[in-house]
Amino acid sequence: MAAGPAPEARSLMDEQTFLDNFNNLKYPRKTYLCYEVELLVGENHIPLDDYKGFVHNEGAAMGLERCHAEPIFLERMASWNLDTELRYRITVFISWSPCPDCAKKLTKFLRENRHVNLRILAARIYERSQGYEAGLRALKAAGAEVAMMTLHEFEYCWKNFVDHQQDEDKSFPPWDNLVVRSEKLTKKLAGILQHREE
Ligand SMILES: [Zn+2]
Repeated sequence: MAAGPAPEARSLMDEQTFLDNFNNLKYPRKTYLCYEVELLVGENHIPLDDYKGFVHNEGAAMGLERCHAEPIFLERMASWNLDTELRYRITVFISWSPCPDCAKKLTKFLRENRHVNLRILAARIYERSQGYEAGLRALKAAGAEVAMMTLHEFEYCWKNFVDHQQDEDKSFPPWDNLVVRSEKLTKKLAGILQHREE
């Protein structure tokens, strides 16, 4: 009997794409979102490597509708049909925090999918849309954990989502002021999340 097709190798991001897009001091136009899924069994977290990868937003090029990274990711998640009898933790590492529209979509998803815990770790806070603070608070209220990426998460993503062209041990090259910037953003986010709606 012929064997089935080999599982498709998951795609990795190239180094420069990661460094350009996740740099917490830059303002790139694109948004990248890396994701991973763990099955929660009692105290154990079992990584599900089939559900690990990344997406990015789609521009308005080629007549396609402009689409942020989060709805693309939500569609991908829906295609997995995760068992509603089980519990999962989904972690996303996103280069820009969700805009208010995407926060709304993620919040709706969480309300409809109680078997999923969501952690959102962002490299930068997206402040260009009005209402972004309320969007982040709504995510937290819906049970999502929202935090800024620290050096630890940048190193983790570098190791897990980036293609090192056979040089597996290549260590993450932090940019100047990465830690200072991350700490500043963490404080700012804490202020946003603590703020009470009037
Ligand atoms: Zn968005």
